[in-house]
Amino acid sequence: MGFKLWVQLFLLLAFIAPHLASARNLQGSRKGDNRKGIHGVKAYLQRYGYYVTQNETNSQTNAFDEALEESIKSYQKFFKLNVSGALDKETLDQMAKPRCGVSDNFTTAGGKLGGSYYAFFPGRRIWAPEKRHLTYGFIHDYPSKYVPQVMRAFATWEANTHFTFSQAVGGQTADIVLSFERRDHGDGHPFDGLGGALAHCFGPIDGRVHFDAQEIWDWGIRILQNDLESVALHEIGHALGLGHTDVQDAVMWPTMNFGSRKTRLHDDDINGIHALYGN
Ligand SMILES: [Zn+2]
Ligand SMILES: [Zn+2]
Repeated sequence: MGFKLWVQLFLLLAFIAPHLASARNLQGSRKGDNRKGIHGVKAYLQRYGYYVTQNETNSQTNAFDEALEESIKSYQKFFKLNVSGALDKETLDQMAKPRCGVSDNFTTAGGKLGGSYYAFFPGRRIWAPEKRHLTYGFIHDYPSKYVPQVMRAFATWEANTHFTFSQAVGGQTADIVLSFERRDHGDGHPFDGLGGALAHCFGPIDGRVHFDAQEIWDWGIRILQNDLESVALHEIGHALGLGHTDVQDAVMWPTMNFGSRKTRLHDDDINGIHALYGN
């Protein structure tokens, strides 16, 4: 194993160890409890659209309040876990998974009539009808070794939609602009380092796609890496107007497992894009 891999392994262990300790401490906690680390769960659920409070100071305490119980229930419902309102192992495991940084709270649900379905980006923002060719570009010293994965992801969407994509040339401003960013990068949605949020996108017609530069991408120890093509495929879905689905096998499902790949669109992803732009 090369030096870089050892460094990554060390970083990952350094990342996992406190999470494991915290998860052990939180496991089994329920309404009325007051345990160290609960404020972190509130912050997580707030970031992803589940914990809503009128009183900001509540979100900073370790008190397991009513609002937290309600938000855990909606989280468990979305991720098809046992809806207990308590922090059981399965719920904590789900929260520990790497995921997309975009919130799950989409009020403009697609076909959510009594079942699982795709959802739309907030506000149901879409590209104009005459705009079916979109350009993409790479900025901020985007590493060239990560270009082919993104091009494959665009090709996959192109094969399943009426959109065509090409790389912007010369000084042309691209519709979808991709970059690697780290921590606070000026858009109000700071990345969180290794693990946690992998990437985020601002939807149509903003088109910015950011990958967290501090993740392990596409190389290194296979079980620890994130597949850039899979994540790009998901973020391009946002760039086209899709939100997070609760269909686990779909590309627009919000979490990823380390070492896993999703490089083909699911019927749910295709149905979602057809619902936005027609068949
Ligand atoms: Zn997402
Ligand atoms: Zn960003």
